[in-house]
Amino acid sequence: MLILCTNDDGYYATGLNVLAEAAAKHGEVQIVAPDREQSACSHSLTMHIPLRANRYDDHTQYVDGTPTDCVALAIGALLDRRPDVVLSGVNHGPNMGEDVLYSGTVAGAMEATILGIPAVAFSYTGRDPNAIPAYEPLLAELIPKLIERADFPAETLLNVNLPPIEPSEVRGVRVTRLGRRVYMDSLTRATDPGGREYFWIGGGGIEWSSEEGTDFQAVDEGYISVTPLHLDLTNYKLLRDIERWDLNP
Ligand code: MN
Repeated sequence: MLILCTNDDGYYATGLNVLAEAAAKHGEVQIVAPDREQSACSHSLTMHIPLRANRYDDHTQYVDGTPTDCVALAIGALLDRRPDVVLSGVNHGPNMGEDVLYSGTVAGAMEATILGIPAVAFSYTGRDPNAIPAYEPLLAELIPKLIERADFPAETLLNVNLPPIEPSEVRGVRVTRLGRRVYMDSLTRATDPGGREYFWIGGGGIEWSSEEGTDFQAVDEGYISVTPLHLDLTNYKLLRDIERWDLNP
């Protein structure tokens, strides 16, 4: 089995190397990842400048682009054969609820899903990436359960979030739906030394609506969360209602 690993924190990131080590117990691993951090780049594709790939070692190449670029290049050009599965992460930080819309980690997996390859995104919800290596044995146990399935669902990727606790304290795995989160005061407005106003997105607090069955609640209660994400964003419940809006000229 050929396993392609990517991420959005850069090819040197702790989380990626832990994921690659765990995956190597189940197949041949090739890493194609961004040359620098690309968090929150979403599904961005670089189209107006050339991309370059460099080899770091026998199983690692880095690209001056986004996770989506990396997966597209890996599958289209850099690997000598098509990977059987794509794993993205382990992201340094959570990807729950609406985060999945901004996440480069999830987008890396999603690009593989679009190309018809089973894919799983992994994120560690704690703050300290140095806590991720302790998760390696648990990941090595979980990965084959997720990817060695003949019935891996089409047009769907799995989004895994690890709780911010010691792996020995993990209570199990829960299959979840996306939660909802609100960022509080995450837009900073200030003045630069030249007297011009600037804005800075990020930071602030996060508030989660802790509903039953969500990714956030599972992680909060000490479980690993596995959410199946469908690429089709259509709101099927509203199709008939919107049809009645009389939009014809
Ligand atoms: Mn990241």
